[in-house]
Amino acid sequence: MLYLVATPIGNLGDITLRAVDVLRAVDVIASEDTRKTGILLKHFDIRKPQLAFQEHNEARAGERIMTMLAEGQSVALVTEAGTPGISDPGFTLVRRAIAAGETVTVVPGPTALIVALVLSGLAVHSFTFRGFPPRKPGARRNFLAMDRESPHTLIFYESPYRVEAFLRDALEVYGDRAAALARELTKLHETVQRGRLSELLAAVGQTTPKGEYVVLIAGAGAPSPLRELEGVETES
Ligand code: SAM
Repeated sequence: MLYLVATPIGNLGDITLRAVDVLRAVDVIASEDTRKTGILLKHFDIRKPQLAFQEHNEARAGERIMTMLAEGQSVALVTEAGTPGISDPGFTLVRRAIAAGETVTVVPGPTALIVALVLSGLAVHSFTFRGFPPRKPGARRNFLAMDRESPHTLIFYESPYRVEAFLRDALEVYGDRAAALARELTKLHETVQRGRLSELLAAVGQTTPKGEYVVLIAGAGAPSPLRELEGVETES
């Protein structure tokens, strides 16, 4: 049996009781980052062998995991943070396990995009998750342009090193839409900035962006969020 186990995105208290039970019960834990998962396991006093399952060894490690599953062993897949498969390794393993007739299940938990969406103040009834945009400006603008007409709230993951360039391109492609910048969610320095893309761009330009970011942008023609959400405000 393959368990896809979601882990906290910052606050260790967000692990679920079931995740702890499953991690205690399985034969092996396949981890994207064995060091980080080691900290999590130690915190919850879970002693289990780990097997590295990363983007660069996904094919080989996946083969090993498939052999274990075929032998009747139970494997939990965890990534560095959040839900496996969401902008993280896991998708190919899930497909292989399904194709091989193995039972696959999820132990649900945090995922940054949902935490950011519900905090953004933007429309939540309909959204499109676009993951990480390309790093190069031309490719990034083309990627953004694909959703120019989309009425759904757009959600992106972005590195602190590129968030300013991303906002500049987004402003150029979409115009000055309502948006939100969610940073360090569930952590000590959690902040959500809400405002027009131009306002967020100006705010980011005044600091050195640090930490993990989710960027959210209102869909085309979306009604303006509540008046009080206009203008950059910060929560902690
Ligand atoms: N699997 C994870 C999930 O379920 O959200 C996402 C992994 S992806 C490699 C990492 C990206 O997710 C970060 O660059 C950032 O965009 C976003 N992210 C993860 N944790 C976050 C947090 N605590 N606050 C804000 N963004 C976060």
